[in-house]
Amino acid sequence: MNMDTERAKELIFLGSGGPFALPHFFCQCVVCNEARQSPLQRRTRASIAIAGEEVTLVDAGPDLEIQLERERIGNIDNIIITHWHYDHIAGLGAIGYPQIMCGWDPVDVYVPENLTCHFDHELAFLKERIILHPIHPGDIIRFPDIDCEIVKTSHTEHSIGIIFNSKIRVAYLVDTALPPEDTCRKIGGADILVLDATFDSIDTEWRHFAVQDAINFWKTTSIPDCILTHLSCHRWENSRWIAGFNHAERVALEKQNPGLRFAYDGLRLQI
Ligand SMILES: [Zn+2]
Ligand SMILES: [Zn+2]
Ligand SMILES: [Zn+2]
Repeated sequence: MNMDTERAKELIFLGSGGPFALPHFFCQCVVCNEARQSPLQRRTRASIAIAGEEVTLVDAGPDLEIQLERERIGNIDNIIITHWHYDHIAGLGAIGYPQIMCGWDPVDVYVPENLTCHFDHELAFLKERIILHPIHPGDIIRFPDIDCEIVKTSHTEHSIGIIFNSKIRVAYLVDTALPPEDTCRKIGGADILVLDATFDSIDTEWRHFAVQDAINFWKTTSIPDCILTHLSCHRWENSRWIAGFNHAERVALEKQNPGLRFAYDGLRLQI
């Protein structure tokens, strides 16, 4: 690689948590208390940044400003929204003021087409500050330094995931249960699968993977490496929210499954 003409490109995990930040303010279980004592085990809501020639965010949750400051990311060129849930969109409002203060160009925001209506109502104040691009499964968004292929996930009616085509291929399926067949085919050639593992275990149907189901699905693919994200670190059993794996148990699971990693806030991959 010629460093003069091509800048290093990184995929940065801004957050690796599920719908609630870890520790949960309402929970005193052993996992939440472990996270209170060990800052490295804290998690903000799942999102990533691709930082190269441009900065592209995938999702903008309620922790966005803290995440950008922590990772020293001082500008945003593009945002891709995977679906319209609080933990993925509640930080969007924060991108308005920096544009006035720093004179940024409008941010390009890519949103599944049926969800663009939200920018007519609660986010109407961003109208002048963003350029809205409706997207669909099958689309390929071509940024100067990376191609992003949009694929359907099994989470909400319009939820999407992304396959990043760079030096390596990374499939990012942040909120999903077993993906549609077409998506399974498309992620086949990826080098890394980043996959939802919201629950450590669950005894009912939900539109998310649990850890073992996510590992089982990954092993049906030929993808050599898997990073689990959107981690609540809790179980849902008998309609109760209870502690999941502690840190030592997660490390043991990684050892038992070579190629498997649990994401953490601040994890960086060279892509
Ligand atoms: Zn989510
Ligand atoms: Zn807890
Ligand atoms: Zn969701």
